Amino acid sequence: MNINVRDKFPLTERVVYLDNAATSLTPTPVLQEMNGYYNEYCANVDRGVHHLSKLASHRYKDAHKKIGEFIGCNENEVVLTKNTTEAINQVACGLDWSKGDHVITTVMEHHSNFVPWLRLKEKGVEVDIVGIKNGAVDINEVREKIKSKTRLIAVCHASNVLGTINPIEEIGEICRENDIYYLVDGAQSTPHIPIDVAKYNCDFFCFSGHKMLGPTGIGVLYCKQQHLDKIKPLLVGGGNVSNVTEKTFDLKKGHKGIESGTPHIAGAIGLTKAIEILNKIGLKKIQKHEQKLNKILIEELAEINSIDILYPDIDRTGVISFNIEGQDPHQTAIHLDQKNIIVRSGNHCSQPLVEHHNYNKILRTSNYLYNTEQEIKKLTQTIKKTI
Ligand code: PMP
Repeated sequence: MNINVRDKFPLTERVVYLDNAATSLTPTPVLQEMNGYYNEYCANVDRGVHHLSKLASHRYKDAHKKIGEFIGCNENEVVLTKNTTEAINQVACGLDWSKGDHVITTVMEHHSNFVPWLRLKEKGVEVDIVGIKNGAVDINEVREKIKSKTRLIAVCHASNVLGTINPIEEIGEICRENDIYYLVDGAQSTPHIPIDVAKYNCDFFCFSGHKMLGPTGIGVLYCKQQHLDKIKPLLVGGGNVSNVTEKTFDLKKGHKGIESGTPHIAGAIGLTKAIEILNKIGLKKIQKHEQKLNKILIEELAEINSIDILYPDIDRTGVISFNIEGQDPHQTAIHLDQKNIIVRSGNHCSQPLVEHHNYNKILRTSNYLYNTEQEIKKLTQTIKKTI
């Protein structure tokens, strides 16, 4: 049984869209909600006393509240950003670092949760990379790598290449025991798995609206209340200051001190609608649907002799990566595109991980709630014919 939502996603009539890990399709109600802002109460937020600004400000504040409810935190702990990349950089650039501080990240990260930490080497910060075991972070290696100067551990919740899900609660416990900041990259989990930041014991949790039915240009940094005033904003100016003299300025308190300039108001409102849609269907139902499609896909692909599916037997999101011997992934993706089947090929902004598996490019499919069993079969039949 498929989930009955396809009429809200006009592109599904034209293509078999299996590149959801890159970005999801945007449903019409999200676009309507954003249009509503532009058509009916277009105004800046927290700036004017007129009724349009009041309404826009109310909706923008409400976005923080609904996002907070979705991930299990307080609305003040929701910092709106452009995307996951900005959210992670906000932490990497916003904390005070000293020479000799130590950061741990992993080989399975997206570049957005890897390069911001590598760049800290310029400030004398040491960076250690933990490996993987059976597709997930090697917890023992995390424990072994911790030293007295370790200040932060950054790990993805779910992998954008393998689809595998990390034991983030366990890593959270390790961080608490050792008094280490804990950042979780939730870009690939939040669209698919019910999130509870309190349960993970994390200090920071980052994700993007565009992978979960929301628009591009809006992302989230969950920042634990007690750290809000420790994070220096990436940008300063209008919006995040409370008092400015010729010589000094004061930052606003809490998340308002980090969000600078006119925000992506329509984006926040669109993401709120996306969350409403996901909640209505239920993430558990979506997860179950993705797993059913995974099962069909893996069974069908396994019939191909020359195929290497990365970790076919592991619990995962809708992401499956594979390599077909003798076939260039880009050529296969182009061939599928000619049949209106959209998949991704390349290193998926995770070059260390893809190279760790001895590839420099790989094919990836990623399903979501609107994909159907028929679409998965069309994909596998087309791949078999290509071979
Ligand atoms: N982390 C992970 C795990 C991702 O999959 C992505 C997007 N592919 C990002 C971070 C970066 O997201 P964005 O491009 O929206 O900043």
